[in-house]
Amino acid sequence: MASSSHQDSVNVGQSTTDTDTVVRVIPTKRNREVWAHFDMCEMANGSTKARCHYCNRFYAIAANFSLKNHFEKPYCKVLKQQAASGQATMGSEGASLFAYNYEMAREEMAKFVIQESLPFNHFDNQRFTKMVQKTLQPRYTYICRATLRRDCLRLWKNAKQELISYFEKLETGVNLTSDVWSAPHGSPDSYLCVTAHWIEPATWQMMKRTILFKLFDYPHTGEAIYKAIDKCIATYKLKEKILYISFDNASNNTSTVSHLRLKY
Ligand SMILES: [Zn+2]
Repeated sequence: MASSSHQDSVNVGQSTTDTDTVVRVIPTKRNREVWAHFDMCEMANGSTKARCHYCNRFYAIAANFSLKNHFEKPYCKVLKQQAASGQATMGSEGASLFAYNYEMAREEMAKFVIQESLPFNHFDNQRFTKMVQKTLQPRYTYICRATLRRDCLRLWKNAKQELISYFEKLETGVNLTSDVWSAPHGSPDSYLCVTAHWIEPATWQMMKRTILFKLFDYPHTGEAIYKAIDKCIATYKLKEKILYISFDNASNNTSTVSHLRLKY
């Protein structure tokens, strides 16, 4: 290995105790899976010890099992800390040592499902779980639809709260557009959507966000539309910031406009 030559001189002279000093790093062909994380060190007292690449602590070389646990569990304090903060660390040969984080996996799955408009049961599949455990990550555990739904809703609530806080600080006007439409394929449901548009003052970039998307039951009267939009404006604290609201020319929208005109 090209990298083993530089390791030979790494931290030679480092001591574990006052009487125990590293004389040299011994190249080893032992179990690579384990020894990629440790240096085999010859000590001044004649013993041989394994030194962790991350925390620099010394361990007995015979105990493959405990050496493995040190970086896999991980018992290593440095790795544990990195896993907690969700970082990957560099392994001895420059390869990224991956720290699996169950919470992060769940969050990324929820994001994926939202962004790709997938059903909540997308990962709710024993065969998928087996495939991941067998080929990608043995510590992966089955994620059911209820968990994924909960995670998605939490992400949505957080994003909504972020947008509310953003609008609070925004020092420019916001324009709304709204429409009501029926679901296709003979489904009886209708939906109401409100989008917000504004110019980001710092960059002059045109911005847009969907701030309301809801199932909208009959009757689709002007008053019902007005109530929904009014509530939405209150939720996002946009009352003082509305410049324009655009609708299509349906007659119920005309009635909504007169309601809105009275209030805003
Ligand atoms: Zn360690």
